[in-house]
Amino acid sequence: MNSFSEDIFCYPVKMECPYCYHSGPIQIYPELSGWTGRKLILDGKIFVYRCRTCHRSFAVNYHLIYTDEAHGFFLENIPEEQTDTEPMERDGVFSFCRYTEEISRLQEKLLIFSHGRDDRVIEVLKIRVSQRTGKGPFHYSGSLKDGTIILQNSTAAFRTEVYVPSWEYETVLRLSKLDDLRAGKETWVDEAYGRALLARIRKKSGYPFIT
Ligand SMILES: [Zn+2]
Repeated sequence: MNSFSEDIFCYPVKMECPYCYHSGPIQIYPELSGWTGRKLILDGKIFVYRCRTCHRSFAVNYHLIYTDEAHGFFLENIPEEQTDTEPMERDGVFSFCRYTEEISRLQEKLLIFSHGRDDRVIEVLKIRVSQRTGKGPFHYSGSLKDGTIILQNSTAAFRTEVYVPSWEYETVLRLSKLDDLRAGKETWVDEAYGRALLARIRKKSGYPFIT
């Protein structure tokens, strides 16, 4: 048991360092919830393995469920290679959920929902910014007080931040005519989802903003 809280369940597994092939233990957190879980996920330290032999670190990716009963949603990360895992079903407590294949994607979703944003709209904005700048992929990294959205290029050698004005978010939200986030049936909201939604908006609206 770790020092964060008595009721956070975790267990050690043996990890092999991809650089020097020595192995060591890492704590795995299969289920996190509420405020404490959110803090741990967004902080991200629990998903970094530091090798005690060569001192290099790398990100780990494993099956993890985050539940937020107060806001009625859960997030489930199922790594692609884990084909035997059955995704958790929505029930009375949870009105919506998202599945991801990478912990970093789950972290992004959690940040988006913590800021009261709609991840479906964010996916569209990410694609539009990639097209405008010729860079990408982008991920959501935060919002300013005036509603401006900050997207960050995640793979470039140096970090690129793009500021998206709140009216652009509001316009996409309005034109997309989506069901309320909590009533939506979507479970996989990724780049492919964003592309499909953007195409739908362009076809229906013909609005000059959507180029
Ligand atoms: Zn190592």
